Amino acid sequence: MFIIPAKCPYPDCGVSLMTEEFLIKGQPSIKLIGEYGSTKRPIYISSIYDDYESVIPDELLIVKNAILDFYCPHCGRRFSVAEYCDCGAPKIYLAIASGGKVKFCTRKGCIKHSLEFKNSEEIDRFYKYNEELRKK
Ligand SMILES: [Zn+2]
Ligand SMILES: [Zn+2]
Repeated sequence: MFIIPAKCPYPDCGVSLMTEEFLIKGQPSIKLIGEYGSTKRPIYISSIYDDYESVIPDELLIVKNAILDFYCPHCGRRFSVAEYCDCGAPKIYLAIASGGKVKFCTRKGCIKHSLEFKNSEEIDRFYKYNEELRKK
């Protein structure tokens, strides 16, 4: 199990998105602001890689397969599109505190996501971060 310590990708913000407001499978979740139908609400997604659970208060108001816009809860800026998913929806990216990026699809119910590292140092730091967490 790997934890992804997500943070805002804007360098002048860069605030950690990890929160204990909602624990998912016992781990802090990643808090984002999601916009759907001109309503913004907090969305909590699992910080565990390969876990697709998310907690969306008022989730039932969001139709299946809807595409959401996501914003940073700290600086309020919209996360920019990294690429397009196979399902046609935009994929956005968040920064990983130890280095690298996590990309995920903005369509509700689509589970496509990936990690991206520039070099082996970023991968090493990601593993080290997770080793340190396990020692706690
Ligand atoms: Zn931010
Ligand atoms: Zn998708």
